[in-house]
Amino acid sequence: MTQLVDYADAVRRFDPVLGIEVHVELGTRTKMFCAAEVEFGGEPNTQTTPVSLGLPGALPVVNGTAVEYAIRIGLALNCQIAESCRFARKNYFYPDVPKNFQTSQYDEPIAFDGWLDVELEDGTVHRVEIERAHMEEDAGKNTHVGGTTGRIHGAEYSLVDYNRAGIPLVEIVTKPITGAGDRAPEVARAYVQALRDIFRALDVSEARMERGNVRADVNVSLRPTAEDPLGTRTETKNVNSFRSVERVVRHEISRQAAVLDAGDAIVQETRHWHEDTGVTTSGRVKSDAEDYRYFPEPDLVPVEPSREWVEEIRSTLPELPQARRRRLQIEWGYADAEMRDVVNAGAVELIESTVAAGATPAAARKWWMGELARRAKQDEVELAELPITPAQIGELQRLVDDGRINDKIARQVLDGVLAGEGDPEAVVTARGLEVVSDDGPLLAAIDEALAAQPDVVEKVRGGNQGPVGAIIGAVMKATKGQADAKRVRELILERIGS
Ligand code: MN
Repeated sequence: MTQLVDYADAVRRFDPVLGIEVHVELGTRTKMFCAAEVEFGGEPNTQTTPVSLGLPGALPVVNGTAVEYAIRIGLALNCQIAESCRFARKNYFYPDVPKNFQTSQYDEPIAFDGWLDVELEDGTVHRVEIERAHMEEDAGKNTHVGGTTGRIHGAEYSLVDYNRAGIPLVEIVTKPITGAGDRAPEVARAYVQALRDIFRALDVSEARMERGNVRADVNVSLRPTAEDPLGTRTETKNVNSFRSVERVVRHEISRQAAVLDAGDAIVQETRHWHEDTGVTTSGRVKSDAEDYRYFPEPDLVPVEPSREWVEEIRSTLPELPQARRRRLQIEWGYADAEMRDVVNAGAVELIESTVAAGATPAAARKWWMGELARRAKQDEVELAELPITPAQIGELQRLVDDGRINDKIARQVLDGVLAGEGDPEAVVTARGLEVVSDDGPLLAAIDEALAAQPDVVEKVRGGNQGPVGAIIGAVMKATKGQADAKRVRELILERIGS
């Protein structure tokens, strides 16, 4: 086990360079080259055809929707779209690839030369250059049974599920990401997160990390300074959460710095990430010249998207996440820092729905970023996982605006909703929380309070309204906080004036 160099020390003495390859599973109804239906969670080997099983003589046909989705992704990433491109065979032998080759694209990707501006949590923007986005098919899934690691070594036997074999993928490859310095881990995370948001906005994939819809291969290398040539890189495969992407980069920087400090060379290899221990371990040694014996796929004609079609797709692209956030910020009148907090808290959609349910943007933000954020943190869950809906928050705020409950009572109503007692209206009724709006009981409490504090009454009569708060406080206490403080004040002044 290599001793790690302290992260701050490592980035002081080395310049990290990243390269990120992201695979996204497209949400098409059928596979990339055949009509096998794609559905998550099916019985193993039930979603196959002779094509996706690689049976002799079976011929592939390109899925037109997958091509359209790939073009959408390319356009959203500011890429050129090829006028003509081909598929290629990437040859290797492994049981999850039944044909013994993966149908991919090699020197003729459908999209190339793009860029994406990614925003870090503090608002810093880092531009990531995109080398290419190409179409390919997913492999099947191996399950190694027996043994302790879940890997093939030490396993008693292995099972293969070909349901995933042939699902359309788009792989997006960056150019070397330089200039990030000590913020490289954050840039890596923000980039993958920005891609995920784009996939969802484009409606090309559910892009659920936990289902492996989006997987990142993270390349990291170090060099003494930004002027030096690129160092040798490692590639950590199949990282499938944003947090892990960030941790992998951070770990690799510290690990590689230690190797270099010891006078050793970085080995160009693939590495595995271990979520539990937070380290990467060596996989297989891989050279650039690794021979996949790529050659053009002879069973498929070139893909030649007409310029008219590309422009039609461009004109129907939805609003992308960054533009949408900017628009909403203006509509909602939030300051930059307020909007950033909302984005970082994952509250954009929640606030949008709460506003749609009738709350003002300010009230929606107050609830989600205040009381609800506090409770989410306390329960260690995401805001969206709290058992309360934007519509319920809208209803709660309406009860406050109508003067039927006050802010303090609203928090008790919130407790009730979160505890599963029903909608705010129902909680108010069940718990008897409605504001005492009938003047009768209020006046009784006020008269009692006035009688108890004659000195205050004198002062107020003399023109000093300051001490009136003491009477209001006594009335609120007597009514267990269920009085409308504004109305109480009016009534007290009327009473004293008369
Ligand atoms: Mn790939």
